[in-house]
Amino acid sequence: MTEEIETLVIGGGQAGIATSAHLAKQGCPHLVLERARIAERWRTERWDSLVANGPAWHDRFPEATFAGIDPEAFPGKDQVADYFESFARQINAPVRCGVNVTRLERQGDGFRADTPAGSITARNVVVATGPFQRPVIPAVVTEPDLTQIHSNAYKNPAALPEGAVLVVGAGSSGAQIAEELVRAGRRVYLSIGPHDRPPRRYRGQDFVWWLGKLGKWDAKAPTPGTEHVTIAVSGAYGGHTMDFRRLAALGVTLLGRAGDYRDGRMHFAPDLAANIENGDRNYLSVLDEADAYARAQGLDLPEEPQARHFLPLPACVTDPVLALDLQSESISSIIWATGFQLDFSWIDIDIFREDGRPHHKDGVSTVPGLYFIGLPWLSCRGSAFIWGAWRDAERLAAHIAQRALAQAT
Ligand SMILES: Cc1cc2nc3c(=O)[nH]c(=O)nc-3n(C[C@H](O)[C@H](O)[C@H](O)COP(=O)(O)OP(=O)(O)OC[C@H]3O[C@@H](n4cnc5c(N)ncnc54)[C@H](O)[C@@H]3O)c2cc1C
Repeated sequence: MTEEIETLVIGGGQAGIATSAHLAKQGCPHLVLERARIAERWRTERWDSLVANGPAWHDRFPEATFAGIDPEAFPGKDQVADYFESFARQINAPVRCGVNVTRLERQGDGFRADTPAGSITARNVVVATGPFQRPVIPAVVTEPDLTQIHSNAYKNPAALPEGAVLVVGAGSSGAQIAEELVRAGRRVYLSIGPHDRPPRRYRGQDFVWWLGKLGKWDAKAPTPGTEHVTIAVSGAYGGHTMDFRRLAALGVTLLGRAGDYRDGRMHFAPDLAANIENGDRNYLSVLDEADAYARAQGLDLPEEPQARHFLPLPACVTDPVLALDLQSESISSIIWATGFQLDFSWIDIDIFREDGRPHHKDGVSTVPGLYFIGLPWLSCRGSAFIWGAWRDAERLAAHIAQRALAQAT
């Protein structure tokens, strides 16, 4: 059985729901197909204690606030999922859950999407299947009795076998998971690569506020050379700056970038001090830019000179461990907080670059009628974040409405 719809949105996360909201505003008939539930990744592919990285006043759609949450607080992951679900209900979004699109291809001047429940043809398709699709695990560790999971499968400390834990990757996920584990009494090793670590708050304002004021959310592309630099921020425990010296003081052993695994030993690059120094430099640059902005704008914000004081470098940084014998250190688990890849293998359309990203301009692909939303740096730095997806959805829905108009005349 083949169904027909003008615009098909694939994926019912925040990007798919935002797209539906804007298509409805434009009067464009559409259908959203979601293989599981609305905001499924927030429900089941995040750890139990995860809170949003931005406060409730920021990490939301402009048209709906978080009910019953202090705007300065960081909503929990289920509160975020509930928020999208209730927003979808409120706007009466035409979402069909439990329908997996297994194949998308061109048909005539439109598209055909195959699902186990039949096929759907559409003149336009918006792919909203997420910025973080397939977990990446970069090294092969063959150690019997060792639990290895990606950060998207980590739930809580009690769900790991007893013993020490090696967390590889110190972006927001790895850093937050390492902190949770050490606070739970685990012995923790954390492998740290190049990272930015902006201050959580400075001069009374959250860093997401500063990023807005400094125009950084609107950046069109990462600064050349920083494409692989992760960002370590946290809203956990009320929100604090991710400071690796503080994690070391809590008991975490910091390590350089993870290399290969040989003869029962995991090897680490001798780059820990440099990574920490570059992270500090990034932190201080945000303070400098914020100070310059406050001065230029004549903002009356409290000075915060103590924000420039660092704890001394811990011994694990000045005298780093370059190889770890997993067994003798009683490491029973590795958590790979090493990021994600895109996976568009189910799209049978010749539109992808070698790195797996589609050829597009701000989400409008080179195939007429095919759109992408929610990808990192789709139109700007904000694109993979909640409010950024909203803004991109508004633009793409307008493009789709224009196209429908042009086709009708
Ligand atoms: C640990 C973590 C924390 C984050 N915290 C924040 C934060 O605090 N604030 C913020 O703004 N951003 C945050 N992000 C970034 C981003 O907001 C989330 O990744 C968000 O889930 C992206 O929403 P999305 O709708 O683009 O994609 P997803 O949430 O991934 O939604 C895509 C949907 O598509 C469905 N789908 C996939 N393939 C198919 C298919 N073939 N057919 C049908 N359905 C399909 C999936 O089931 C899923 O529900 C975080 C990301 C991670 C990994």
